[in-house]
Amino acid sequence: MAPATRYASGVSETAASSPLIRRIAHLDMDAFYASCELLRYPQLKGLPVVIGGGRRKEDDLLGKLQAAYPDGDWTEDSFAEKLDRIPVEFFPRIEGYTGRGVITTATYAARQFGIGSAMGLMKAAKLCPQAILLPVDFERYRHFSRSFKSIITDIAPVMQDRGVDEVYIDFTEVPGGQREGGRVLARLIQKSIFDATGLTCSIGVAPNKLIAKMASEFNKPNGISIVHEADLQSLIWPLACRKINGVGPKADEKLKGFGIYTIGELAAREPHWLVEHFGKSYGAWLHEAAWGRDDRPLETESEPVSMSRETTFDRDLHAVRDRAELGAVFTRLCEQVAADLKRKGYEGRTIGIKIRYDNFQAVTRDQSIDGYTHDAQRIRQVAGQCLKRVDLSRRIRLLGVRVGTLVKAGTAPHADKPYIAAEETPYEQADLFFTDD
Ligand SMILES: [Mg+2]
Repeated sequence: MAPATRYASGVSETAASSPLIRRIAHLDMDAFYASCELLRYPQLKGLPVVIGGGRRKEDDLLGKLQAAYPDGDWTEDSFAEKLDRIPVEFFPRIEGYTGRGVITTATYAARQFGIGSAMGLMKAAKLCPQAILLPVDFERYRHFSRSFKSIITDIAPVMQDRGVDEVYIDFTEVPGGQREGGRVLARLIQKSIFDATGLTCSIGVAPNKLIAKMASEFNKPNGISIVHEADLQSLIWPLACRKINGVGPKADEKLKGFGIYTIGELAAREPHWLVEHFGKSYGAWLHEAAWGRDDRPLETESEPVSMSRETTFDRDLHAVRDRAELGAVFTRLCEQVAADLKRKGYEGRTIGIKIRYDNFQAVTRDQSIDGYTHDAQRIRQVAGQCLKRVDLSRRIRLLGVRVGTLVKAGTAPHADKPYIAAEETPYEQADLFFTDD
């Protein structure tokens, strides 16, 4: 999976002179909603607690307390400060619950009874009637969500939000991000979040987002899992196909119908067979996923990592025999990326290509230039140079062009060395790609 992962890492071909290996973390907070509740009700720690059902009615508890302890200071003002003193027996139980409410989160103690997220509360009531039922309080969870994310970006700035309780983090260039495969940095982040909030999380560190997402589940709760490319067979292939983020229940059923239960069994299928039964794009993706390949960059809210365009051909094309057609597609892809960059106001200095051959093997090459550009001709010229470095004797099913290392247009640090198209190789003569007969 080396070429695909290198492609999106932003680590160029010069990676040979640099030891940086792409390391992506997926961080998932442990039983997040329930853990946020246990912070204010520590007396419930270790007990089965489920979060779900209707809105919070704090005055229910308050009313009960006032009735039970008429002399106690349980006014609304003081109530919030005394949450940790509410006797456990005052909390509502799930027993006898009737209604259509669904569990959003269950504590690990509740999970031991077979209770899980998305389960109906009535079913959970049968499994563990003594479980304590707390209503959801999204405002509180959002508050903790903002806290743990800002702790992460203070340490590792390239983070992709994946919802209220999970994120991807690019460890590649962060100090400590390479040590022990990322374990050192993962430990630091885990400890920093815990020290500041009292919340635990689980982290998987892997060559890409796809594997990292699976790895974060390996040692829950409060775990760290490190997966390297070489671990694909031993750690990933035994897992159920459903563990791949992107294999939903429908696709999983269909795979099972073909006798494919594990990711290893999926990896053993011929790509063409997968395409035949699951369609060109999803079938090809299934194959890539089973082989642990995933070059998606992290999508940070503030700045895009790169912009790219790619196309899958209706039929596999050959660099020599289909030269005109490929050349036209190549030009169009460069123009589209350039237009994307201009529209969004970016320039880039790493220009790359991606090719998938008829046997589904993917290769990528990229090259960094002096200065930054969003010029279609410049992009095509450099991308053409990259294409000279790949095997063009085989048939091609996909071609992609990518521009990375982006800056806001006009803010380029090398603005004193602007690219002037007229001084460079003319566009027509720069047809470097399809000359390797
Ligand atoms: Mg979670």
